[in-house]
Amino acid sequence: MQVEFHDGGYCTHREKMAISTGRFCKAVFPSIFVHFHHEKHGHILYDTGYSQKFYEETKNFPNNLYAKITPVFIKEKDTAVYKLKQQGINPEDVKFIIISHFHADHIAALKDFPNARFIYFSHGFSKFDGLGKYKRLVNGYLLGLIPEGFKERTIAVEKRPTTLSVSKSLNEIFSVQYDIFGDGSLLAIELPGHARGQLGLYFTQGNKEFFLIADSCWLTQAYEENIRPAIFSYLLTDSAKLYNQTLEKIHRVHKADNKIIIVPSHCGQKYLDLVATPCCTKNLNGVYT
Ligand SMILES: [Zn+2]
Repeated sequence: MQVEFHDGGYCTHREKMAISTGRFCKAVFPSIFVHFHHEKHGHILYDTGYSQKFYEETKNFPNNLYAKITPVFIKEKDTAVYKLKQQGINPEDVKFIIISHFHADHIAALKDFPNARFIYFSHGFSKFDGLGKYKRLVNGYLLGLIPEGFKERTIAVEKRPTTLSVSKSLNEIFSVQYDIFGDGSLLAIELPGHARGQLGLYFTQGNKEFFLIADSCWLTQAYEENIRPAIFSYLLTDSAKLYNQTLEKIHRVHKADNKIIIVPSHCGQKYLDLVATPCCTKNLNGVYT
């Protein structure tokens, strides 16, 4: 299985939002998405990053409040569709999109992939689907980003068979892992707290092991040292208690098995470590103003 990491645009926030010991200045947070080429199942994405649809969806009140609170930067050349096309892959060729959770920065390009089936924890979508207009916005969800026929194109990950990874430590800490394709290539692990039914992904490539942890924390330093975000960041979380528990578990995985490469979806420094030629996002590892 081939694996490539990409950044699909970025947003800016106070660094302190992400990590309580951080600085008060603004920092850049890329939206990492991952492209897999699976021998049998073809092109697969884990999340999509931003797309121009984010701007369309946040043009008018009340959704424009989202864009004001979280300034988003995405150009066409940063989008998943553009980046795949550069490699000769058409949007129609993407067969599956594994959705970590339904915040806009992870699903903004779903509509660009007309043939994709969507793999996620059902209760993640049920929460989103069940909220009223304003509550949905406060929770960071934009309904207009969901493609038509979404439910019919769903594969509920919790119905897949369970399995275990090759990491004994990971298995002890996260004992329930879902084998998405039944071949051990991609294992889904629930990481509750930040968003209902947040989906983490474990896989191996050659002799490397990866654990994508979505927004369980925003920066590598947070799981390395078990540092929580600033208190006001918890306003956006599904459950503060579960957030802290998940962060602590990931911290334990890191301590017990430092061979596993743990990837938060918005850590610029980690992204720079993973890609040979980062192309779009400026100053990913630093403060920008
Ligand atoms: Zn999120």
